[in-house]
Amino acid sequence: MTLSAVQRSGAGARLIGPGATLGVLGSGQLGRMFTIAARRLGYRVHTFSPDQDTPTGQVADVEVTASYEDLDKLRSFAGQVQVVTFEFENVPTVAVEAISEIVPVRPSGAALYTAQQRGREKAFLSGHGFPTVPFARVDSIERLRDAVARIGPPVVVKTAAFGYDGKGQRKMTQAGEVDAAWQSVGGAEVVVEKFINLQAEISVIAARGLDGSVEEYVPFENRHSHHILDVTTAPALIAPEIAARARDIARSILEQLEYIGVLCVEFFVSTENELFVNELAPRPHNSGHLTVDAAVTSQFEQQVRAITGLPLGSAELLRPAAMANLLGDLWTDSEPNWAAACAFPDVKLHLYGKAEPRPGRKMGHLTAMGKTVHEAQERVIAARDALLL
Ligand code: ADP
Ligand code: MG
Repeated sequence: MTLSAVQRSGAGARLIGPGATLGVLGSGQLGRMFTIAARRLGYRVHTFSPDQDTPTGQVADVEVTASYEDLDKLRSFAGQVQVVTFEFENVPTVAVEAISEIVPVRPSGAALYTAQQRGREKAFLSGHGFPTVPFARVDSIERLRDAVARIGPPVVVKTAAFGYDGKGQRKMTQAGEVDAAWQSVGGAEVVVEKFINLQAEISVIAARGLDGSVEEYVPFENRHSHHILDVTTAPALIAPEIAARARDIARSILEQLEYIGVLCVEFFVSTENELFVNELAPRPHNSGHLTVDAAVTSQFEQQVRAITGLPLGSAELLRPAAMANLLGDLWTDSEPNWAAACAFPDVKLHLYGKAEPRPGRKMGHLTAMGKTVHEAQERVIAARDALLL
């Protein structure tokens, strides 16, 4: 980077201007879409992960293949870039610490530390007065028994670390199932929480810039299938006061964390119209993929802007939109019928460059816009169905 690319901006924060090189830990589809946004703005991107020919590596300037435990490789990676972000939150804390001695890591290691472990995350949220479902953190079967008795079934027991897409979770409808639940997900710390009757699941994706300004999208509504996100629609069809409250909560979480970058806040809306924060993802999120086609600024461009010190873009949604995930299950006997999906002139196809279509693996997504949320949703599902024609 030339000296002219490093300029002062805002309240003394350094602008890492276009032409600079950004580092990404992780190499999946989130890194790929981040990289595409960064390159469009004139940045270079290096990616670091244990894999080769990755979704991110295919579009980055440089793909480094090494273990997250290899501190020497991480330091030399850090030495080549002006700022590091991540697209995968289970990066070891030591890796982030080693890098932050050399270049800024955004969001910070502290935000990552909070969001990496469900117990810590829940403790942070309830400790700061954000609404969570009744929960307890326990690390033995006796404490689990006490907590289930106190909270009252039905409950969900979740591993505290490294869970995603519903992995490491077990629902219990009766107190008698404690042994089985501890057997299946226990052993180390677990979070046990009240099972809520859901009216909707929503997410608010928000970004906070180096100058402290915050921009958030309207709430999106998420439907899961087998615990994996299936379809997102925007805006969420929920009461306006719940939408406003969710946006306020997301903004204040970013402020409390002094967060720099994009954060996704997942919420539950109960059948009684109560709002609870479920979990945080310290990065762009699958439910925000529709912002690439349907918002003034995509969540990935927002991430580039936030970590480099550029002003954030508008988070305005251009039209009602819907996104459908494409999992490896769509590859039954043959390649999906891409031409049939692309025959819908207003549906956009995104594929992540993954060679092997395993069941449950996120291979790509489709986005559609419409005059109404329902129209967008019908269109995106029709286009996905057409893949199997
Ligand atoms: P993950 O990290 O796997 O996304 P989540 O905590 O978001 O874990 O749980 C996955 C899904 O399981 C949620 O999106 C929701 O559909 C369901 N779920 C989880 N916890 C509860 C709960 N307490 N009450 C009702 N449904 C829940
Ligand atoms: Mg979740």
